[in-house]
Amino acid sequence: MELRDTFERVIDYLRISITDRCNLRCIYCMPEKGIQLFDHREILTYEEITRVVVIAASLGVRKIRLTGGEPLTRKNIFFLISSLKAINGIEDISLTTNGMLLDKYARGLADSGLNRINISLDTLRPERYKEITRGGDISLVMNGIDAAEEAGLLPIKINMVPIRHINDDEITDFARMTLGTPRHVRFIEFMPIGSRDLWNDERYISSDELKITVEKIGPLMPVRLRKRGPAKYFKFDGAPGVIGFISALTHHFCGECNRLRLTADGRLRPCLFSETEIDLKPALRKQPSDKEIERLLRLSIQVKPEGHNINQRDDLSSLKNMSRIGG
Ligand code: SAM
Ligand code: SF4
Repeated sequence: MELRDTFERVIDYLRISITDRCNLRCIYCMPEKGIQLFDHREILTYEEITRVVVIAASLGVRKIRLTGGEPLTRKNIFFLISSLKAINGIEDISLTTNGMLLDKYARGLADSGLNRINISLDTLRPERYKEITRGGDISLVMNGIDAAEEAGLLPIKINMVPIRHINDDEITDFARMTLGTPRHVRFIEFMPIGSRDLWNDERYISSDELKITVEKIGPLMPVRLRKRGPAKYFKFDGAPGVIGFISALTHHFCGECNRLRLTADGRLRPCLFSETEIDLKPALRKQPSDKEIERLLRLSIQVKPEGHNINQRDDLSSLKNMSRIGG
């Protein structure tokens, strides 16, 4: 079975935020004091998440990404992963993490059935890491990356958000990582979403500008890694690693968007940049029949917009933080 939206896009990917809590306070993602958190009772239980995925898989969803907040702060994540892994139709489970707890969890994640992992890392300098994350310890992340590699959670993808005057002097250091290791380094355009504490036009660096900076090291050759997805991939001649550019703002990937999002409090969000959400929780908690959940899943795909017209000058401060939507 294939799930197609009104614009003939195949929707086979569900990103699930399993918590809005986080053990860091990255300056571009969250205010220093944190955000208003959902009450525990508002958060979907693992059983509820699994039920949604069973129905989504029966409709054609094949790939799941767990995110947050920080997904590794939620208890018993191994149980959730093994439950999702056992679902008929689910082919790939991945997770996005800040890596603080990864050293401890990598082996268990792999053993539970996790296929791949993305690690968010915006600097390679310990002091700067502490500043950007407001207190994080980079040595834990580095150990976590090694542990994930040893556990076979490959390829390791490192996501960096370059921000002018914050970490833009490290863009080439990150790109050089791909010369000596098979890691994927992906540069994600800074988005004017959620907390506007840091945002201004000038801080934003487009993927085109990032590519020019990276090419100071040497020419990049295009690589086709996947049929669809938001990243454009390249590599240096002979390099084992790959470089990706994810440009939500400049080069819209809407035409290839294959995803739906599920927030930690049970709302289906068809587009990151639109506030349209469909609340699954009443049906999950009150209705014994899966038919209503299936109807709401189909509805969220029907209302998925063709695209967004966001650019870096737009004020999106009213949109929820990435940590609430599940970036
Ligand atoms: N806590 C996990 C982590 O940091 O990987 C998962 C959740 S976090 C919200 C997911 C991703 O969103 C991270 O890679 C983070 O860098 C990115 N992100 C958060 N706010 C952003 C913003 N304003 N612009 C671009 N990326 C952002
Ligand atoms: Fe937490 Fe991830 Fe947001 Fe950083 S980017 S504050 S680690 S949710």
